[in-house]
Amino acid sequence: MRYTHICMKTINHQKIPVYCTFQDAPTHHYRGHPEAPSRLQPLASWLENDLYPEVQFLDYRPAAEGEVMLVHDPALLALLRKESAKGAHEFEPSPSYVTENSYVMALGAVGATLAVSRKILAEGTGRGFAIVRPPGHHAGPNQAMGFCLLNNLAVAAADAVASGLRRVAILDVDAHHGNGTQTIFWNTSEVAFLSVHEQNIFPGSGEVNDAPHALGRIINVPLPSFSGDTIYFDVFERVVKPWLFAFKPEMLFVSVGFDTHFSDPLTTLSLDTEGIFQLSQKVLDWADVLCEGRVMFALEGGYDPTALNDNIQACLAAMSGREVTTDHYGTAPELRTSTQALIDDLVRRHHLEEI
Ligand SMILES: [Zn+2]
Repeated sequence: MRYTHICMKTINHQKIPVYCTFQDAPTHHYRGHPEAPSRLQPLASWLENDLYPEVQFLDYRPAAEGEVMLVHDPALLALLRKESAKGAHEFEPSPSYVTENSYVMALGAVGATLAVSRKILAEGTGRGFAIVRPPGHHAGPNQAMGFCLLNNLAVAAADAVASGLRRVAILDVDAHHGNGTQTIFWNTSEVAFLSVHEQNIFPGSGEVNDAPHALGRIINVPLPSFSGDTIYFDVFERVVKPWLFAFKPEMLFVSVGFDTHFSDPLTTLSLDTEGIFQLSQKVLDWADVLCEGRVMFALEGGYDPTALNDNIQACLAAMSGREVTTDHYGTAPELRTSTQALIDDLVRRHHLEEI
């Protein structure tokens, strides 16, 4: 049953500033494709009504090609420029598409992500959210893939390293494996990467033994279908937390996709908005302890616009120190599945000590 529950009680506001950028990319749109501007339409009126005055929206400019080349091969930029010039069409590897404005929109998404990370680094603290499309985490050094043209968060993380950070962590909680990000930082000792995703779906990578050369630095957690809040809490406490506390990042980046929500039409995970809110709080708390609150999220997937809107708001509520949930779908159904053996294996494999 659908219902709407709105509770707005301010709790224990951390006084850590919250920075946002927003790009809905209305001209990056291809008929019938799920990665569409309609994903972010519900947010427009919400933003106009300024429901979160404590969130500071930043101006941004499209990224320069030199900035994007921190992680991407110039040949990919040339390809995207050329494909965009042809107008709207799908291109290999499908299901990616471009329109005549897609290259500019892709540079805009990177620029919006950089604006948040650089603001946080300049201020020395801050929580941020780049609410952008097109998404990025499947894009590798020389390949666009799976709705992703340029890897927004990877550019921002690489930019942070280039600015002098020695340890940066990327947590990818989209339902799909962040294969592009993993490839980009495959041999980058300054960057740790952990992806929690649904197993046996696109792009087919992200098994526990993906990166034997980088034990403890690159970790993949492939979850069975219908994994929900309880399993995610367990994974976060027993795998994500010890990974983070051992690596001790100076800034934390989160690729956040809300196709983990149980309503999502493309996947079969089983988180609900309350669970996403609580998981966000954990990540923010850990960033407070580890890196003076320096943490930013960048939007990846999420293909039910109503749930996407609710879940973005849940993350911003957590960042703002609010106990607020606008939740049109309510509690996810309890489904029986077990991940104890998987988690035990990961703890042993990566020597994850209990914190
Ligand atoms: Zn996804």
